[in-house]
Amino acid sequence: MNIRLFKPSVGKEELERIEDSFNSAWLGLGPKVGEFEQKWSAYAGCKESVGVNSCTAALHLALSAFRFPRGKKVLVPALTFAATAMAPLYNGLEPVFVDIDEDTLSISLDDLERKYDPDCVAVMPVHFAGHPVPMDRLVAWAKAHNLKVIEDSAHSAGGKYKGKTIGTWGDIGCFSFEEKKCMTTGDGGMICSDDAELLKPLRHSRWVGINKDTWQRYEANALNDRDANSWYYEISDIGYKYNMNDLMASIGLAQLTKLDAMNRRREEIIRRYEAGLPQDGSVRSALPYETQDSSYWAYMVRVAEREKFILHLKKQGIATGVHYLPLTKHPLFVPYRSDTPVADRVWTQLVTLPLFADLTDEETDYVVAAIQSFGTDG
Ligand SMILES: *Cc1c(COP(=O)(O)O)cnc(C)c1O
Repeated sequence: MNIRLFKPSVGKEELERIEDSFNSAWLGLGPKVGEFEQKWSAYAGCKESVGVNSCTAALHLALSAFRFPRGKKVLVPALTFAATAMAPLYNGLEPVFVDIDEDTLSISLDDLERKYDPDCVAVMPVHFAGHPVPMDRLVAWAKAHNLKVIEDSAHSAGGKYKGKTIGTWGDIGCFSFEEKKCMTTGDGGMICSDDAELLKPLRHSRWVGINKDTWQRYEANALNDRDANSWYYEISDIGYKYNMNDLMASIGLAQLTKLDAMNRRREEIIRRYEAGLPQDGSVRSALPYETQDSSYWAYMVRVAEREKFILHLKKQGIATGVHYLPLTKHPLFVPYRSDTPVADRVWTQLVTLPLFADLTDEETDYVVAAIQSFGTDG
């Protein structure tokens, strides 16, 4: 057997929606993007959503919305994908690496308190593997320190924490639809907020800065027939080519109808894994998985003899991964290094196992059997 680590769940429904876009011959930023944004807002329970071409772009623009003075600091977890800490750098801000919680592997609320200083302007929690950060406590802490909260919800789509959708707790939430994430549009991302005014300029920034709402200034320039001048736009701010397009949105509209079912299926698989872990503690669950209303993107275990374990599974055709090398160990982020002892210790034991909605029970049991035979085959 050969078992992949992640696999997107796409088929007939997505193809039908793509065909629809082909038939209308709108492939770029068009009506499907608007439809997907509205459906996403309704699904997540937020006022406004802006579709972009990745979560990396979403995080960049989300942070730009606040127009923080350059050189200010943004608190980010040490154990995450690089995009989280790139966002401050894109915006001329400094990432401050915060250690992780030993149990949840997400940003540590205790270390946040230690790393905070008055130059900090925002905090970017990541729901690691999809496990929710205690957002009630984090948001309260951030408010008390006058910090904005940008939720990096790349690992989570459709999950809830205390009944409220993950990614809608902070000032802005960012989602990823990259091919390996909870749902996919090939590549893609979404920016969400209850503050529609805050997101409004981002619609221009994602589209090279083009602003079509400038008619009044245009009229002042003595051009008077609106119909003859519909080509007119102005650019007043730096912009990016970050828009989602109608092809991505077509796939997204189909994926959104399947997202809950895919999350429920991933919960079943996680429960099957958890029930099959060896009693001797040689391979332990990495997280306190709570498989209800969740949206776990990855299933991870902690293994002391990681290399041996990875090779043991590889021999049986099972792909594994490691998420992540702590960011402070990348040359780019070394200048921002700080004390993150838990991340530095725990990451050496983490192994990510196959998890995707189309993984069968038989395949899951095959992985479980391979885990159980670890250590017994020399
Ligand atoms: C995948 C990921 C991103 C970036 O998502 P893209 O859509 O690939 O740009 C950002 N943050 C985290 C935590 C991620 O895992």
